Amino acid sequence: MSNEQPSRPVDSRSITGYDHETDVLVIGYGCAGAAAALEARSQGAEVIILERAGGAGGSSALSGGEIYLGGGTPIQQACGFTDSAGEMEAYLLAALGPHADAGKVRAYCRGSVDHYEWLTRQGVPFKPSFWESPSWVPPTDDGLMWLGENAEPFAGLAKPAPRGHRVTAEGFGGKVLMDRLVGAVNAAGAGVHTDTYATRLILEDSKVAGVTARRFGKTLTYRARRGVILTTGGFADNPGMVAQHAPLLTGWGVTSDGGDDGHGIEMAQAAGAGIQNMAAAQVGISLVPGLAVRGMLVNAAGQRFINEDQYPGLLGQAALFRQDLRVWIILDETAFEEVPEDERWGVLPHLVAETPEELEQEIGMPEGALSVAVAEYNRHAARGEDPYFHKNKRWLRPLEAPFAAIDVSRGMSSPELGASRGGAKVFTLGGLRTDTNGTVLDVSGFPVPGLYAAGRATSGLHGQGYISGTSLGDGTFFGRRAGAAAAAAG
Ligand SMILES: Cc1cc2nc3c(=O)[nH]c(=O)nc-3n(C[C@H](O)[C@H](O)[C@H](O)COP(=O)(O)OP(=O)(O)OC[C@H]3O[C@@H](n4cnc5c(N)ncnc54)[C@H](O)[C@@H]3O)c2cc1C
Repeated sequence: MSNEQPSRPVDSRSITGYDHETDVLVIGYGCAGAAAALEARSQGAEVIILERAGGAGGSSALSGGEIYLGGGTPIQQACGFTDSAGEMEAYLLAALGPHADAGKVRAYCRGSVDHYEWLTRQGVPFKPSFWESPSWVPPTDDGLMWLGENAEPFAGLAKPAPRGHRVTAEGFGGKVLMDRLVGAVNAAGAGVHTDTYATRLILEDSKVAGVTARRFGKTLTYRARRGVILTTGGFADNPGMVAQHAPLLTGWGVTSDGGDDGHGIEMAQAAGAGIQNMAAAQVGISLVPGLAVRGMLVNAAGQRFINEDQYPGLLGQAALFRQDLRVWIILDETAFEEVPEDERWGVLPHLVAETPEELEQEIGMPEGALSVAVAEYNRHAARGEDPYFHKNKRWLRPLEAPFAAIDVSRGMSSPELGASRGGAKVFTLGGLRTDTNGTVLDVSGFPVPGLYAAGRATSGLHGQGYISGTSLGDGTFFGRRAGAAAAAAG
């Protein structure tokens, strides 16, 4: 057992009376739980949300507030971009793959404009202005940004359009997203029980019919007449589950509210739920995208291994999973100076040298490793070409002396979150196996009666890849679907 709570389900026959009863019971009050509750309420179902913490929020409230939306949203149109659900689908299938969930990606893309409208109806603000530089989170409140759509190989697979929709906020937008969703949930009249940790599912025959929960040391029982929806987040904060399912993440920092203990996943597994894609993860690499695109990202052998203008999360996955995060950005003074200070997040060059030969020696690379790579890069860049990885020619320019190296493993300081040490922070993308309506499926693909799930407790859109905005995006989108499906159940 990887945490203190036993996960196995409780037989309803052992329960003499319930403390609370409702139609739909939502476990976890982040973005997915809020969306599920709102949709279930809009279908007329009585709803109670259980939340372990003292209030709503979860990781959703700490997040950057980037939501992946497209297909021709009003924000895209106002910023002068045309887009279609088909181009969005082609991009996500490639960027979230291999083995992105094709059914979910299709439903998500086709429903994206409608989902944008739903978010704005809940009061979530988006500004019709465009931020065009590579960035994790821009220093402005511009409402639209690129998330790798214009980089190869994706630009050749799908017509590029920026789809990073940013919730308008000072700094990170997750707090505003959750503030608005909580306001909508309150207005919709859902019950919210905070400081209440769901511990085990209750089974009536083989149907999930409620949960037991713990509040201040007291055990409570909740009955759900129509369905239980798990929106409890991922498992990156549970070292045992990480070691078991995603060993490459062991020892790295975690991007979460600290409570991604995976217990929601485990209690569903114990009731027969299937899991999927458990080794996949977002890797927030400590790298300033504006610096990386203007230079070379190299491994311990001095070699480039990806085009630096891809979405930085894909750089992070490639660096952690294939290079053990032993990576450096090689750049020159012009590249460094071109990135404004407020976009550098405190990053300074760690090593400076007059020649690539000296720099490779200072880093400890084999003789010739980096100097050959720089010469090769510069030879092609002088012609505006990158025949190895096809970086956009906007970023191609021969690097000049003096040369500098940034050791990515040393971390950086984001304005909102402070210092991150160790070069990367991760969160998990795998979880419960669900269909496009949020129904939890067992290992054979059949529904687990009475059980629904959404958000990072599930395997959502993603295969191996990750693009920012798809987590708040699939959490709210499939949270709504789970809420509707549970409310409609008998
Ligand atoms: C700093 C940061 C920046 C990020 N930026 C972005 C971004 O810009 N775009 C994006 O798409 N994603 C981003 N993410 C990721 C994203 O925030 C999360 O993946 C997403 O919010 C998960 O939503 P959720 O509703 O599934 O889980 P959460 O928001 O974590 O909510 C789960 C809730 O369930 C509660 N809970 C857990 N177990 C139980 C239990 N047994 N009983 C009762 N309650 C329970 C938790 O306390 C929590 O409140 C970011 C994350 C962080 C931390």
